[in-house]
Amino acid sequence: MTETILKIEDLTVSFDGFKAINNLNLSLKKGELRVIIGPNGAGKTTLQDVITGKVQPTTGQVYFKGRKITGLSEHEVARLGIGRKFQTPRVYLNLTVRQNLDLACNRNKNLLSTLFKTIPSTEKRHVVGLLETIGLTAKADLSASLLSHGEKQRLEIGMLVAQSPDLLLVDEPVAGLTDEETENVGALLLALAESHSIIVIEHDMEFVRQIARQVTVLHQGSVLFEGMMDEVQTNPNVIEVYLGK
Ligand code: ADP
Repeated sequence: MTETILKIEDLTVSFDGFKAINNLNLSLKKGELRVIIGPNGAGKTTLQDVITGKVQPTTGQVYFKGRKITGLSEHEVARLGIGRKFQTPRVYLNLTVRQNLDLACNRNKNLLSTLFKTIPSTEKRHVVGLLETIGLTAKADLSASLLSHGEKQRLEIGMLVAQSPDLLLVDEPVAGLTDEETENVGALLLALAESHSIIVIEHDMEFVRQIARQVTVLHQGSVLFEGMMDEVQTNPNVIEVYLGK
């Protein structure tokens, strides 16, 4: 049986009595690529905040690799192997693509010593592999400021992967991208899904169709429906609250 990497049990998050997350249960198998969708206000951001330790739940638990992580700080959760990518790319614009990846490999070390030290050959190979994975080998020595928005998204995904997380949490990676860039990011996520567990939070239904296997639909802080994309699209409850808008 495939191992469960993330388990969320009876989770509730109240803000001044308002339940942004309301008794939510969710389970993710190791190696799974899961897409979470839901209308504005469904609780998608709050759920990511709880998983990553930014917000503590009012009740309920989060387990990662069998270990309870509720109550841990963002830093501790990241160290245990959950990498979070926010919607807007956060890359160093004044560094090259390669330097961004070098830094990500040495996240806990000093910025200057990383940039000026001699990089060990294993790490160089790691970065070369990452550049290839994210499709930016030809732009490795260009300033990140010269990348398109989609390329910056792929670079930041590469920077997350550089830290060898077990679970990637990716928030709306294709918002504002052209069709071609959207396809590239989708292809990258599918390639990464071969060796990582990934949760993608997404609004763009075309993109969800491109990458989705199992989809979880959130509504008013709870799971409204879970299933494959074709089941989601034909479920009357989902159509009413989300697709039918
Ligand atoms: P989504 O990301 O799906 O749009 P959110 O998780 O941002 O949803 O928000 C879920 C609900 O919780 C919304 O109604 C939002 O207004 C409310 N909410 C989120 N954060 C706070 C907060 N810090 N204080 C009060 N209400 C909040």
